[in-house]
Amino acid sequence: MTRLPSDVLERPDATTRPLSLEDAGLREPAPVTRTLSGLPPRPAWVEIDLGRFRRNFQLIDRDKPTGLQLLSVVKDEAYGHGAFQIGKAALASGAAWLGLSTLQEAVSLRERGIRAPILLLGDREAEELPWCVAHDLTCCLSEPGSIDWLNQLALRAGRKVPVHVKINTGMNRYGVHWKQAGALAARLAEAKGLRLEGVLSHFAQSDEADKSFARLQLARFRESLEALRATGMPTGCRHLCNSGGFLDLSEAHFDMVRLGILPLGVYPSSVCRRIPGIQSVMTVKARVAGIQQLEAGDSVGYGMRYTAASPRRIAVLPIGYGDGFPRVRNQGFALIGGRRAPLVGGVAMDALTVDITDIPSARLWDEAVLMGRQGEEEISVHEVAKLKNSVSYDVLTSWRARLPRVYLDEEARA
Ligand SMILES: *Cc1c(COP(=O)(O)O)cnc(C)c1O
Repeated sequence: MTRLPSDVLERPDATTRPLSLEDAGLREPAPVTRTLSGLPPRPAWVEIDLGRFRRNFQLIDRDKPTGLQLLSVVKDEAYGHGAFQIGKAALASGAAWLGLSTLQEAVSLRERGIRAPILLLGDREAEELPWCVAHDLTCCLSEPGSIDWLNQLALRAGRKVPVHVKINTGMNRYGVHWKQAGALAARLAEAKGLRLEGVLSHFAQSDEADKSFARLQLARFRESLEALRATGMPTGCRHLCNSGGFLDLSEAHFDMVRLGILPLGVYPSSVCRRIPGIQSVMTVKARVAGIQQLEAGDSVGYGMRYTAASPRRIAVLPIGYGDGFPRVRNQGFALIGGRRAPLVGGVAMDALTVDITDIPSARLWDEAVLMGRQGEEEISVHEVAKLKNSVSYDVLTSWRARLPRVYLDEEARA
């Protein structure tokens, strides 16, 4: 980028002044909301209701046993909601920890001033470890090589670096095999620069009705905790549960739970326990950018995937698969005027079309909802997930960065 458009707008030099609407013989539409770069906002966006997020967190806080610590998982931009904003709101609502996946995500939060404990989930490459020490990022360790290297780094820095040991109890991704946890702990006990601050494992299946594998993982976790204790080391903070485990497996809560999707107001599955009052935080919106009147026999969009059987009124929404909307055809809905408008034709990169024949009140630039609530109607994350044959986690994280995030915060405004 050479120069910010706002610099250009603010320069008094008349010769370089951009053409105004008056110059073009148009009147300025009022009021004009300016984004940071000075551009008008895009007529398609993602709304994040931070007030709702805080309320969800309070409901979870009231639901949980006292003393149970909360780690707020804000990886992948807090599942598309914004790691900084959600992380800050979580810490203000009682979370003791933040959890992230990549070094880049974690350093970016540190650079924006977040000082709270951050746990990096997953394993780190050797060259990442010095950065973790420098930025106070807590690592999950599961193999002797990283114990030795992190220990050297800690001793060199003259610090006692806290670590969490990750145990593989059946997920078979990261972690030391539960039968080898004792041996790893013995190695850790010799590492004078490190301090065992926590022990964790991760469920492969916690949100489905059948909890038998989760219970097997729990038993293996308990067994490895015993082996750790046998080495004489205090295990510190023990944590096993994600949202599904928190909701349905109270016997597996231990000292802390790691919650990602639940405080965002989305349940990990359709069968897990409900906490009354939890509401989804994200709403995806667009404005009606075009209205077409079709005659019988007219088709819509690429490939002529929809042909009107009778006169129809069609609204064009300026959002498409390039924004993360599933690339479906003649399937799904948008909400306009609090009613369901069925999708017609195929979804394009930048646009999709809906039938508004039954919503005669619909006008150009009206607000439409692609995911979320409008009036009495709601298109849930799970409904969108069905369209792409996937799960809620995938839908939340699929909304692309080019859709601006607009944060609502009633409490802060009041
Ligand atoms: C993503 C993740 C979580 C959070 O899972 P949710 O189902 O979103 O609550 C917890 N723990 C680990 C290790 C994770 O990777």
